[in-house]
Amino acid sequence: MSSSLVDLRKTLGEDKVVTNPDILRIYARDPASFEFELPLVVVYAESADDVVDVVNYAIKNKLYITPVFHSTSLSGNAATVARNTIVLSSERMNKILEVSDVDWLAVVQPGIKIDEFNLELMRYGLQWPVDPASSKTASVGGSIINGGGGVKGAKYGPAPHWVLALEAVIGTGERIRVGCRTLKCREGYDLLHLFVGSEGTLGVITEATVRLAPLPEAFVGIVAQYDDVVDLANTVVEARRRRLWLMVAEFMDDDGSDLVGLGRKYTLWMGADISAGSEEVVLTRLREVAEGNRGKVVAEAAKWGDFFKLLEPRRLLYPAPVKRAVESYGGNAVILMADVAVPTSKLPEAMREVKDAVRLYGVPTITGGHVGDGNIHPTLWFDKSNEEQKKKAIKLFEHFGKIAIKYDGTISAEHGIGVHKREMLKTALEARGSTAALRIYREIKRIFDPHGIFNPGKIFE
Ligand SMILES: Cc1cc2nc3c(=O)[nH]c(=O)nc-3n(C[C@H](O)[C@H](O)[C@H](O)COP(=O)(O)OP(=O)(O)OC[C@H]3O[C@@H](n4cnc5c(N)ncnc54)[C@H](O)[C@@H]3O)c2cc1C
Repeated sequence: MSSSLVDLRKTLGEDKVVTNPDILRIYARDPASFEFELPLVVVYAESADDVVDVVNYAIKNKLYITPVFHSTSLSGNAATVARNTIVLSSERMNKILEVSDVDWLAVVQPGIKIDEFNLELMRYGLQWPVDPASSKTASVGGSIINGGGGVKGAKYGPAPHWVLALEAVIGTGERIRVGCRTLKCREGYDLLHLFVGSEGTLGVITEATVRLAPLPEAFVGIVAQYDDVVDLANTVVEARRRRLWLMVAEFMDDDGSDLVGLGRKYTLWMGADISAGSEEVVLTRLREVAEGNRGKVVAEAAKWGDFFKLLEPRRLLYPAPVKRAVESYGGNAVILMADVAVPTSKLPEAMREVKDAVRLYGVPTITGGHVGDGNIHPTLWFDKSNEEQKKKAIKLFEHFGKIAIKYDGTISAEHGIGVHKREMLKTALEARGSTAALRIYREIKRIFDPHGIFNPGKIFE
């Protein structure tokens, strides 16, 4: 161990500084199964003071810092890509510091897991309505920093809508607070939303003040199946035309539904949070819109808890391909989940084109997603030792991005750019005539991180 790490142990305490190679190896991979660099050390911060110490230490010793919560990012956002990196974990910073049932806000340490947070909020009749399929493991901070979304996104939108303020340590070692405790906050530039979606490249957040919503009085939902993806997409389009404000609209394509045991059909989960007493009226409207687009209603739920259980197969969109890929390719399996979105009106054409591309390339792929906010996740897998297959798979992955761009959409709706989509980001910005954005990103990063220590190799580097 280098003498400088001895200094770090002295400053922070033995149990926060880990150099066990088995632990280090965990941080040299991402869920996609790409391998990255082995970090030098993992530090488990327990306070903002610890974070300041690590940042100052990194500046002094010319080391990088990759901040990590629970490492569930799907674009390599939290992976170590450079040598001489300190992995700075905030997983131990997981306390709820305050809940206000009048201001409908909470102050939390950012490493708290989303499900644990929401479980506590239930006592207050409140929720943080950002609900990624990974909510058992993923943190509130991770969702904010990746700008993530979830299954309630059709109504509530993604994490950027549900954060009021952040405390962070930036690359000078200074602590700053951005945003306010109020819903309205107009004090100069919006630095809060620079951090949201910054993927650990601007600083390390140590506290978050988040907006809350009341738990709905009642909920109804249906599951419908279709023979054609366009009919499924048209159901969501028509729901919007009829001013049916869905809370959930999730889907899985025919291959995906088959893989998770629902039969070879396109499956749509669709539901709305409503006032008590209107259950039957809204259920009828849901049935009408599905059946009017050649859907067959295969299940119904009159409570959120029951619908939540019906959603279980949809939550396998990532785990099911992981299982299948490992069965097929063992340790050489790589799973890539695209994260494109298009405006709702373009869903029928874009979803048809995604399906056509999958057939054309012949790479194993299932597609699902948060169709209620236009977010489609084609998920493909391949054998990384097979160069030809790998090339084809990466081309298909990029092709999904091009489909999104063609239909006025985005190459990343909620997972961020990380390392997997750096080239696609350039393509998207070029397509919008906005290449100057890359220079602006670099200049912003230099202001927050003048020594260039935070999360190298991500987004645009
Ligand atoms: C099965 C599965 C399903 C998923 N479903 C969804 C979904 O429905 N919606 C969705 O949005 N995502 C989904 N994801 C992706 C992932 O769960 C989210 O991106 C999540 O928000 C990441 O949270 P995390 O706690 O794991 O953060 P991490 O992956 O550890 O980190 C997220 C980012 O934050 C940075 N970071 C870490 N700590 C700090 C800090 N203290 N300060 C500043 N930056 C920091 C990291 O460098 C990284 O860039 C899914 C992933 C899986 C595996």
